[in-house]
Amino acid sequence: MVELDGVSKSYPGGVVAVDQVSLRIDRGEFVAIVGPSGSGKSTMLHLIGALDRPSTGVVAIDGHRLDQLTDRQLSALRARTLGFVFQQFHLAPGVSAVDNVADGLLYAGVPLAERRRRATAALNRVGLGHRLDHEPHELSGGERQRVAIARAVVGEPPLLLADEPTGNLDSAAGAGVMTLLGDLHEAGTTIVVITHDQEIAASLPRQVRMKDGRVAAW
Ligand code: ADP
Repeated sequence: MVELDGVSKSYPGGVVAVDQVSLRIDRGEFVAIVGPSGSGKSTMLHLIGALDRPSTGVVAIDGHRLDQLTDRQLSALRARTLGFVFQQFHLAPGVSAVDNVADGLLYAGVPLAERRRRATAALNRVGLGHRLDHEPHELSGGERQRVAIARAVVGEPPLLLADEPTGNLDSAAGAGVMTLLGDLHEAGTTIVVITHDQEIAASLPRQVRMKDGRVAAW
C-alpha cells in the first residue's frame, strides 16, 4: 500500500526532517508512527499522503510511484486512495455534519443527493446518525473528530492517514476514536496513525518509531 525507498526531506536552512527512510506498509495494516515532537512524523505523513514531495528517494502509493505522476494524476490518486484525519478536525464552520461529510465526495464527481445519502451512511457508521444536522460548534470534540473520520472514509479510500487524531480530545473521547479506527481497520482499511502517545502506539499491531528523522525500529 505504501513504499518509501531511501526517502529524505530537507527544509531550507538545513533541517533534515526525514533522513533516509525506507519503509513498507502492506494492505490491511494498522500502524502507529510514534516519536517525540520534532522527530519527523508529520513530515513522513505528508510524504505518504502526497501532500509534499521528498528531496530524495521514492514514494509509491498503491503501486504508483508519485514522482512519475502528473499533478492531475496525483490529485486523482489522492481523491481515490487516501483519506486524511487531522488533530484539529478541519471541519467547515456553519456547515451541518452531513454536508461536511458530503464534501468529502466533491472531487469524486458524485451528485449532491447521492453525496448526502452516502454522507448519512458514513455518519451512521461512526455512530452519529442522530447528529446529521448539527454544526461543528454544536458537537463535542469527540463527535467532531467522528465527523472528520466519516468525511475521510465516505469515499471508501483503502488508506486512511491520521495525524494525532486524539491530540485534542480527553482520554474517553480519544479512546472512542481509537476504537472507531480499529473498527475501520477490521473492515479492511489500511490505517497509519501518527502519535507521540506511547500508550496509543502500543495498542496498535505495529509501531514505526522515529527519532531525529530516522526510523529507529519496526
Ligand atoms: P513531528 O511531527 O514529529 O513533530 P515534524 O515532521 O513536524 O516532526 O518536524 C521535523 C523537523 O522538521 C522539526 O525539526 C521541524 O522543526 C522541521 N520542520 C518541519 N516543517 C518545516 C518547514 N516547513 N520548514 C522548516 N523546518 C520544518
